[in-house]
Amino acid sequence: MERKSFAAGPALALVLSALGCTESRQDAAEESGPGPGSKNLEAEREKQRGKGEKFVLTDSEWEKRLTPEQYYVLRRKGTERAFTGKHWDSKKEGAYLCAACGNELFSSRTKFDSGTGWPSFWEPISSDKVRLEDDTSLFMTRTEVLCKLCDSHLGHVFDDGPAPTHQRYCINSVALDLAEKKEKKEP
Ligand SMILES: [Zn+2]
Repeated sequence: MERKSFAAGPALALVLSALGCTESRQDAAEESGPGPGSKNLEAEREKQRGKGEKFVLTDSEWEKRLTPEQYYVLRRKGTERAFTGKHWDSKKEGAYLCAACGNELFSSRTKFDSGTGWPSFWEPISSDKVRLEDDTSLFMTRTEVLCKLCDSHLGHVFDDGPAPTHQRYCINSVALDLAEKKEKKEP
């Protein structure tokens, strides 16, 4: 009997110290996790977006906000498989928005059938909607297209598009949300 309780002493101390360690880790995780303030943060960033300022989220916030496929393409510079997206073959009229932040990027009026299986446009709504960057990954030199507001990866731009710009913005469907035009005649 006596021996048993003697042995429990150091074992208990070990358990307690292990608990202590776990506890402090949890504290650290809670600080960066979603708290009561995260809704205000989101509202604040919505406001930034309205002013045309940068739309900035942390990586874990992006992961929560986006679907896994959106996250892979937009935040990890992935590419969806050709002919699988919802917009490549769409003839619907409207504005194509950044699926990450809602920035208006392309108009259906500049969309054309490139035969690639990805939605293609000959120009963005305006040049200040997107940001271009050299991309030398995969042993190729390409020009990456990013959303200027939130820096999400959209696709690439090539010089083999149709008139009038002869450019081809080759964009992932999953990076775009279509705001369909209402059935109303233009003034
Ligand atoms: Zn964006």
